[in-house]
Amino acid sequence: SLNIIKNGSLKHDDYLRGLANGKLVAKQLIGDALRQRVESIDYEFCEPGDEDTFFVADLGEVYRQHLRWKLNLPRVKPFYAVKCNPDDRLLRLLAALGTGFDCASKAEIEQVLRMGVDPSRIIYAQPCKTNSYVRYVAQQGVRQMTFDNADELRKIARLYPDAELFLRILTDDSSSLCRLSLKFGASLDSTDGLLGLARQLGLSVVGVSFHVGSGASDPTAFLKAVQDAHVVFQQAAAYGYNLKTLDVGGGFCSDDTFEQMASVLRAALDEYFPAHTGVNLIAEPGRYYASSAFTLACNIIARRTIQDGSAVSVSDSSSSMSDDGSMNNGDASYMVYVNDGLYGNFSSIMFDHQHPVAKILRAGGRTMYDSVAAHESASEDAIEYSIWGPTCDGIDRITESIRFREILDVGDWLYFEDMGAYTKCSATTFNGFSNEHDVIYVCSEPGALALMEL
Ligand code: PLP
Repeated sequence: SLNIIKNGSLKHDDYLRGLANGKLVAKQLIGDALRQRVESIDYEFCEPGDEDTFFVADLGEVYRQHLRWKLNLPRVKPFYAVKCNPDDRLLRLLAALGTGFDCASKAEIEQVLRMGVDPSRIIYAQPCKTNSYVRYVAQQGVRQMTFDNADELRKIARLYPDAELFLRILTDDSSSLCRLSLKFGASLDSTDGLLGLARQLGLSVVGVSFHVGSGASDPTAFLKAVQDAHVVFQQAAAYGYNLKTLDVGGGFCSDDTFEQMASVLRAALDEYFPAHTGVNLIAEPGRYYASSAFTLACNIIARRTIQDGSAVSVSDSSSSMSDDGSMNNGDASYMVYVNDGLYGNFSSIMFDHQHPVAKILRAGGRTMYDSVAAHESASEDAIEYSIWGPTCDGIDRITESIRFREILDVGDWLYFEDMGAYTKCSATTFNGFSNEHDVIYVCSEPGALALMEL
C-alpha cells in the first residue's frame, strides 16, 4: 500500500504500483458498500427515506490524491477549499495529512477550528468579506485573508488592522469551467495603487494570490498568473513590503490533466520563485481532492414509456424481457425519474457545468456494479433512456439520452462516479426533498485509515 512521502522517500514507480493496487481495492470496497446498501432494502415495505439517494466516499482516494499532489508539486502546500465539499470526515483526514484550509465564510472557519486546526492553517480567501465575519476572524486569530479592492482595504483597516493580507490578482480564466475573474481579482493596472493604499493605511501585505478559474484546462494560465504575481512582488518591494507567500489558488482537476497543469506550474514557480528566495508556496485546491472520492447512488422512483415519440399510458408499457435480460419491445424508449436531481446533488450540472454519467447498479433484481453489462451502453440497439430528477421542474433533467442493454424499471438503482465536488454543498430542499443524504465511508488505503484512527 501507499505511504506518506517522508523526506521524498516515496518514489514515482512505487507510487504508480501502489496506485494501481489502491484503485483495485477501492473498486472492491465501493462495490461492496453499494451492494450491501441496496440489497438490504425491503422494497415492498420500506419506510419513506429508506431508499433515498446515498453516497459512498472512499477516503483512500483523498489520500492517494494527496500523495499525487506531493509528488507533482512538492514545494506547494495545499489549503483545501472547504466550499467544494465540507464533509467532516474528508476535512478531518486532510487535517491529519497536514493541509491548510481555504475558507469563504464564518461557518467554514468555525467548522475547521472546531476540528482543532490552528488558525494559522486557515486562509480566509474571500476578497469581499462580511463586516461581522471580519470581526469574528479577528477574535479567532485567523489572520490570513485576501483582498482585491480599495474598499476592502479600508474595511480591514477599520476592523482587523493586524490581518495578514494577500493581494488577489486577475487571471485569464477563459479556459475554465467556472470563471471567477469576472467577479474577483485586481488587474495589474490597479495593483500598484492598492499596495500604495495598503501602505498608507498601515496594513500588512504578506503575499499575492490568484485563481485561474475552477476546472481550468489551459496550463499556460498558470504560467501567466505566476509571471504577473512576480511583477506584483516587485511592486510590493517598492513600497517596502517583503512578500513571503504566493498562493496559486485552485483550478486543478483530478483527471490526467493534473500532471500537465502541475508540470507547467512547477516550472513557472522554479523560474520565478525558486526555492532559494524563501517564498512560501501555497494553493487552494478543492475539486482535485474531493471529486473522485465520492460515488452517488440513486433509486429509480418512476418510469414513463415513450413509443414513437409519445408517452404510452396503457398496458403495453410493460415491456417484455428476453432471457438474457435485454429488452425486446421494438423502438420504445423510457424516461426514468430518480430520487435526486438538479436541485439536489446534481446541482453540479447547473453550477459546475458537469455531465455526470449514469451506470447501472441494480436492475431486474441483479446488482451489477462495475460489471461489463452495466457498461455496455454505447451500442445502437441498446435501449434509450433519459434521466430526470424528482422535482416538478422541467429543467430537472440529469441526462438527455443514454443507452443501456438492460431494461430499467422502478426500484432499480443507478450510480454516478466523481460526485464529490460542488454537489451536495449546493443541494437545496426544493419541493421538500431532503438534501441530507447518508454517506457510507470506506477506505482503500491503510495509510489513511491509520491517520483517521489517530
Ligand atoms: N479558492 C477560491 C478563492 C475559490 O473561489 C475556489 C472555487 O471557487 C477554490 C479555491 C477552489 O477551486 P477548485 O475547486 O477549482 O480547486
